[in-house]
Amino acid sequence: MNELEDLYREIILDHYRNPRNRGVLSVPPAITSEGLNPLCGDEISIYLDIDPNGIVQEIKFQGRGCSISQSSASIMTDSVKNKSIGEILDLISKFKIMMNVHEKQDEDEEIHVKEDLIAQNYSSMGEVAALQGVVRFPVRIKCALLAWNTLLEALKEAEVKKD
Ligand code: ZN
Repeated sequence: MNELEDLYREIILDHYRNPRNRGVLSVPPAITSEGLNPLCGDEISIYLDIDPNGIVQEIKFQGRGCSISQSSASIMTDSVKNKSIGEILDLISKFKIMMNVHEKQDEDEEIHVKEDLIAQNYSSMGEVAALQGVVRFPVRIKCALLAWNTLLEALKEAEVKKD
């Protein structure tokens, strides 16, 4: 195992043992969403406060399950706090590309984004980059994705409320 993989493993373990932003927010005004990964038994609830400018002011999560699912949730909350919804959607999209999950129609564009991300070793993604090793364990990809998909649901909920 090389040094970078060691570092990534430490980041994942640290977020699992000392989860950031654990807790709840009162709903309303917060938006909430729940996610379940039945394959592994992972559960995540996310609470979001979005200000009128579309910035995530506060985010909390609760959950239980394997270390990858809980660590990914902790890393996710840290990564999206104080970001705009547009920036967050961009990060979710990059995360899915890193996890080899293809959703867009335009696969060429995804390949370009992936090449760019690999070229800079996912450095623009901060601690989220630590999760890239999960790709080598296909059964764990759903564990890593759970918090991000649950966040996406919460953002859709926020869109509906706004209209
Ligand atoms: Zn899991």
